[in-house]
Amino acid sequence: MIKFVLASRNRKKIRELETFLKEISSDIQILSLDDIGYTDEIVEDGATFAENSLIKASVPARLGYIGIADDSGLEVDALDGAPGVYSARYSGEGATDEKNNQKLLCELENVTDNKRGARFRTVITCAFPDGGYFQVNGVCEGRILREPDGDGGFGYDPLFYYEPLSKTFAALTSEEKNQVSHRGKAMRTLAKELPSELLKHNIK
Ligand code: IMP
Repeated sequence: MIKFVLASRNRKKIRELETFLKEISSDIQILSLDDIGYTDEIVEDGATFAENSLIKASVPARLGYIGIADDSGLEVDALDGAPGVYSARYSGEGATDEKNNQKLLCELENVTDNKRGARFRTVITCAFPDGGYFQVNGVCEGRILREPDGDGGFGYDPLFYYEPLSKTFAALTSEEKNQVSHRGKAMRTLAKELPSELLKHNIK
């Protein structure tokens, strides 16, 4: 049994990762930080998604586990890539999805429809106890609407319009979103690259 520790306390993310990794082997177990008794707060003070996901994945790796962590967010062209790594706390202290979306709409008020391009980005890091690590990316392009649409998803989903399906992310089923989303793409790449990376680090 190969054990991975996902540097997150989010049960939904753990189940999601499990689903993707079970496709490569049923001999895989995903533990959370709680499962290994790690209770400290991890300070995500990196300047990029890659830095933050490495900071998080390195925590279990330093404790002798294979650490996995993802870091995601929204990059808006007209805002020079903001909110980026600040996506979760864009509207400041006490940020909620609703307040973040309101702030985004305000910032883009005078931006014309053809300049509202944006993308969701995820970087997943897999860090090994020997100090080595590898990273995979997932990107999904879209544009920011002028008002929310759809009841599903979370975060910026109601404002993120995905042209190929003519819907916002909040109007997709979770299966549809998994097929096309930044996180789904990154997870599939991770599952593809993991077997050879495990061999490189002598993990069987
Ligand atoms: P995390 O790194 O996955 O926790 O994502 C950080 C923040 O980025 C979230 O709090 C959301 O605001 C935003 N975000 C990341 N992924 C998504 C998504 O799939 N839909 C909407 N918002 C997202």
